[in-house]
Amino acid sequence: MITNMSSPANPLHTRVGILGGGQLGKMLALAAGNWHLPIYALDKAQHFPAAPYCTRFVEGDFRCAEDVYTFGKHVDVLTIEIEHVAIEALLQLEAEGVAVHPRPAALAIIKDKGLQKQFWQEHSLPSAPFRLYKSGQTLRQAIAQGKEKFPVVQKARTEGYDGRGVAVLRSEADLTKILETACVVEDLVDIDKELAVIVARNTQGVCTAFPAVEMTFHPEANLVEFLLCPARIPLEVAQLAESLAIRAIQVLGVCGLLAVEMFWTRSGELLINEVAPRPHNSGHHTIDSCYTSQFEQHLRGILGLPLGSTQMKTPSVMLNLLGEPGYSGLAHYQGLQECLALPGVKVHLYGKAETKPYRKMGHVTVLGANLDVAMESARQVQHTLKVVTR
Ligand code: ADP
Repeated sequence: MITNMSSPANPLHTRVGILGGGQLGKMLALAAGNWHLPIYALDKAQHFPAAPYCTRFVEGDFRCAEDVYTFGKHVDVLTIEIEHVAIEALLQLEAEGVAVHPRPAALAIIKDKGLQKQFWQEHSLPSAPFRLYKSGQTLRQAIAQGKEKFPVVQKARTEGYDGRGVAVLRSEADLTKILETACVVEDLVDIDKELAVIVARNTQGVCTAFPAVEMTFHPEANLVEFLLCPARIPLEVAQLAESLAIRAIQVLGVCGLLAVEMFWTRSGELLINEVAPRPHNSGHHTIDSCYTSQFEQHLRGILGLPLGSTQMKTPSVMLNLLGEPGYSGLAHYQGLQECLALPGVKVHLYGKAETKPYRKMGHVTVLGANLDVAMESARQVQHTLKVVTR
């Protein structure tokens, strides 16, 4: 039974609740373990990744206002590992004195790509030019009337993730790809590199940035293939990316992490693509390659502790371990032994029993004296380690 006490004076006795018990919740719980922080998670089933590492795992639905409210009443600080949560319950909990990070009003802006774009515009933060449409049909009309010209990128305002909810429309032939939903339509950016900067802010307003990372994409699958830290960009671009990300977290006023995805364009502009106010895939390498991991930094931020050093210990290449296409069922990690024998290879498995094509089953961070060395081992891991079924 969880008892409901008032907030303890010692931040390390604070009961931290996470909405979501997937891999991000698991890694947050593991970081909390270093300080023996009481950590609670809410998600659908006890077999979810975070469950074995939490003080208490509560079965429920983070999209259901009642479940979120009841869960939130039993913790001191509430945070998220996913944006798609019942915001109305968070607003109520906040009004009743529960510390909610990110603050629900900012989360409401971030959750809706349309509101997010308008927010960057209002605060003079650079992002691709955009228009809002109520539906796929109104977008089709705008195209027919010549108000919207190819090429453009259509994005569902809500519920999109990992590229789902994004359609690139290059010509009439792509009209069949139009998503039938309220959407943002952006000019297609001529991207040189996709970057991400994870920043943190604590409750006292102090901010720090992790070094910018670079995402490389698989040429055919159109999925992120490797995340390189540091990004192979000029120092001044890295500094600008960090200062943009810090401005973004300041204007949003959130505590904890903000992952800021950016485009560095061929014309040399830096544009904010989208943000996530939580630990992020582009920060997994920090567990092994930085003085402080993104997960520890998130806890420091939301608990009002001094932020940790974001300094990199060693360059790294991170790759997601995705379910191999063609395999569904009980997961088997083919090539695991060989990879564990490689120097600097850090394997993280999320403990999901079932694999499905492209499901995120784990990640591997490869450390190296420089990026070339790390990249060579990362390619070896990519060819060796496969998530299949027996
Ligand atoms: P998600 O939230 O699903 O990750 P994103 O907004 O990050 O969606 O878009 C997914 C990918 O689509 C980006 O990583 C980028 O490669 C491409 N993309 C998004 N917006 C644009 C744009 N305006 N111009 C060109 N490519 C884009």
